[in-house]
Amino acid sequence: MDWLTSLIWHNGKLLGIQWSVWKVVGWIGNAVFFSRFFVQWYATEKLKRVVVPTAFWWLSLTGSLLLLSYALFYQKDSVFIFAYAFTWIPYIRNLIIHRRHAQAQLDCADCGKLSPPQSNFCSGCGARLSPAAEKAGP
Ligand SMILES: [Zn+2]
Repeated sequence: MDWLTSLIWHNGKLLGIQWSVWKVVGWIGNAVFFSRFFVQWYATEKLKRVVVPTAFWWLSLTGSLLLLSYALFYQKDSVFIFAYAFTWIPYIRNLIIHRRHAQAQLDCADCGKLSPPQSNFCSGCGARLSPAAEKAGP
């Protein structure tokens, strides 16, 4: 277990890292940004087709903003700053598109299942769907 102790506590520092508030922000940003791959992979394996869930874009946005703040206020490196300076644009755009698509779904009055906006019939129970009845519920 000596190797484990020297791995965790290296050169008198936790993981051999000189810790500061910005180091914590940067490592949390790394962890959040990296975790999005597992979220997307899990969603794809679950549905057996390639999907990008909303959580992927939230994790991308949060992780990249944490890494951008680390780059701006601690690292102060132009390459690192530029790498994360504009990534929030497609992340927010994809979140907006996800939201608009979810709001356009047709809600079946009979079974409550959501169907794509252009659907004429519910895929759950076969009832006729009409866009006018979509938001007319109680
Ligand atoms: Zn239905």
